[in-house]
Amino acid sequence: MTIFSRIINGEIPCYKIAEDDRFFAFLDINPVNWGHTLVVPKHEEDYIFDLDDDELAAMTLFAKRVAKAIKEAIPCKKVGVTVLGLEVPHAHIHLVPLKCEGDMDFHKKISDPDPEKMKQIAAAVSSKFE
Ligand code: 5GP
Repeated sequence: MTIFSRIINGEIPCYKIAEDDRFFAFLDINPVNWGHTLVVPKHEEDYIFDLDDDELAAMTLFAKRVAKAIKEAIPCKKVGVTVLGLEVPHAHIHLVPLKCEGDMDFHKKISDPDPEKMKQIAAAVSSKFE
């Protein structure tokens, strides 16, 4: 079982943003910027483009709803979208609020993010999710 499946199952804590019957969104534990969120399918699949068309389309639409919530909760110009998938073998979309390109530099992660701030951000974004 992947670490993200264990998060979805509640075995490992996370700063949850939203979920529906097929997808789950939570803050990245090592954010590149405040509000950095991961969107994952509950169904375990390593490579995002191995998801079937219906699941990939639905995941994109779920990510769109999460991005809208991030944009409303966190001051930013746009919400950037990236798929890497090199570390955790469970398909995921990175959503990062951006004021400039440098806000999405995966070499510059926020080290040891303040748990209280992460909690506040998760609550703020979650409250905007529709
Ligand atoms: P990628 O697979 O896209 O290269 O990177 C995986 C991402 O998942 C990283 O940004 C990393 O910080 C995040 N991540 C890894 N383990 C955990 C975890 O246990 N909890 C959370 N919230 N994020 C994680």
